[in-house]
Amino acid sequence: MAEVIYSGVRESRPGRVNDLGTTGRQVEQDFKKGCLKRADRSFAQGLQCQQINSMAALMSLEDSVFVSHSPQGCVGCSIMAVDMYRVGQAHRGIKNIKNPRIIVTNIDQKSVVFGGEEKLRESVKLAVERYHPKLIFVYASCASGIIGDDIDAITADLQKEFDSVIVPIHCEGFKSKICASGFDAAFIAINKYILKKEKREKEKGLVNLFAPTTVSYADQLEMERMLKAIDIKVNYIPFYSSLEKIKRIPAAEASTSICKVFADEFMKTLWEDYEIPYSHTVMPIGIRNTDKWFRGIAKVLGKEDEVEEIIQKEHERIEPLVKKIRSKLQGKRVFICGGTGRSFAAAALIDDFGMELVGLETPTYDEDAQVDIEYLNNIHKDYVVDIANMQPFEQVNLVNKLKPDAFIGVPEWAAKLGIPTTHVLDGKRPTMGYDGLLYLGNKIAEQLQNPGFNKKLAQHVKLPYKDSWYDEDAFKYIEK
Ligand code: SF4
Repeated sequence: MAEVIYSGVRESRPGRVNDLGTTGRQVEQDFKKGCLKRADRSFAQGLQCQQINSMAALMSLEDSVFVSHSPQGCVGCSIMAVDMYRVGQAHRGIKNIKNPRIIVTNIDQKSVVFGGEEKLRESVKLAVERYHPKLIFVYASCASGIIGDDIDAITADLQKEFDSVIVPIHCEGFKSKICASGFDAAFIAINKYILKKEKREKEKGLVNLFAPTTVSYADQLEMERMLKAIDIKVNYIPFYSSLEKIKRIPAAEASTSICKVFADEFMKTLWEDYEIPYSHTVMPIGIRNTDKWFRGIAKVLGKEDEVEEIIQKEHERIEPLVKKIRSKLQGKRVFICGGTGRSFAAAALIDDFGMELVGLETPTYDEDAQVDIEYLNNIHKDYVVDIANMQPFEQVNLVNKLKPDAFIGVPEWAAKLGIPTTHVLDGKRPTMGYDGLLYLGNKIAEQLQNPGFNKKLAQHVKLPYKDSWYDEDAFKYIEK
């Protein structure tokens, strides 16, 4: 039988659901019975596009240019990744902070009729003339996909002319409603155009540590500190990385990822194409998850005994400090919203501080999520689960009804309801590992003690929904 090649579309994996309004207990039971069905919304607001995830994942690669074969608007939301990239440089001590080099081909009405090939060729030529980069990434968009521009053939032709490695990425927005598909599209392209299934001599103790844009420098240092303690050398990919470091991927003895939905599919490919074993467990946020993540990679390398010793020492160091934070947070009710990896990890973290989960918003649900939900259902009474990629109208409806003491996640909307918020997608401050959980716990406690800013915000800013919306069923637009 022909080998099934992963398409990069997350929905193509069986049992993955991305639009649902339910509760923790219900979703666990329904998934077990095989009753979860893929649904849709008759009204949706603000779906994050996969193109931006493909771009954000690679944005900090040294000496690169990013050509978006799209209308101008498509790169608009790259602003968050640009901000992370700039802040990341500052944290790494770089004095002359750079912007990423993004070129938009500006597909317009004419291109839709006559094709956008010429614009793409011109843009790549311009990228070479201006920057002489080592890498040029060409991003597909809805528009280039619809008009059928063959970015593979065009870039293959351009590659004959230029020394820069040109990598086309198939991240057409319409292909997937799960924005993490954009990460997969980027890694599929890296494997095809840079690694090319060529094996390299193994480097003893080298581990590929995959990290998305949202991982702060403090978190990178914490992960490297922990791994160094068990004699692991880290190849940190692709954030603040380079063509050379990418080429080093096949030399690693093992791989792991900081995020559960980042490079998880790529690590499977690395096992299939280069026989690199991997650990795919959880995001290291909170004591339980940090232990689990640490044990996962140690097991792949046969370092189980060494890791237990370190874990014990870390527990002795941090547990008294966690206890102090717990005394401030015990019993507080929390609503959590984040990417699939972070939302579940943050939900496990709140257990360290004795907080109560009342609502969880996450973009997808699948068998990995089921493992997390089973764990959470053992700790928390029932709580609302909203499976949604963005959809702020559902979130504000739920948060307004549940009135949590704290909101952990992307804070824009909950803050305008006056709820104390703590950002969990914080690429600027520590969140992960043993040190990260102390920082995050203290940050949540500070927000609860100082809610003034959000309270004032709620008095002066009105969210764009009618009062009647807050009385409606939050899941009214999800078609069963
Ligand atoms: S690629 Fe499609 S979904 Fe993404 S920003 Fe452009 S038009 Fe929107």
